[in-house]
Amino acid sequence: MALDPDLVALLACPSDDHAPLSQQTRDGAPVLVCTYCESVFRIEDGVPVLLLDDAEPGPRGLGNPVSA
Ligand SMILES: [Zn+2]
Repeated sequence: MALDPDLVALLACPSDDHAPLSQQTRDGAPVLVCTYCESVFRIEDGVPVLLLDDAEPGPRGLGNPVSA
């Protein structure tokens, strides 16, 4: 179940970057992806799981920019 875009706009990455999140699809399921570190957060039953322990870290880890 996808999230309301207005809700997504209010959410932020729980890592130190606190960057906006973008809703994307992974394996047919909606997920939230950090626009800064590209960490991936699941959405379970319409509730975003914004927990560092449950996140899939981005290519350079949680809170670390992918480029630069
Ligand atoms: Zn992030």
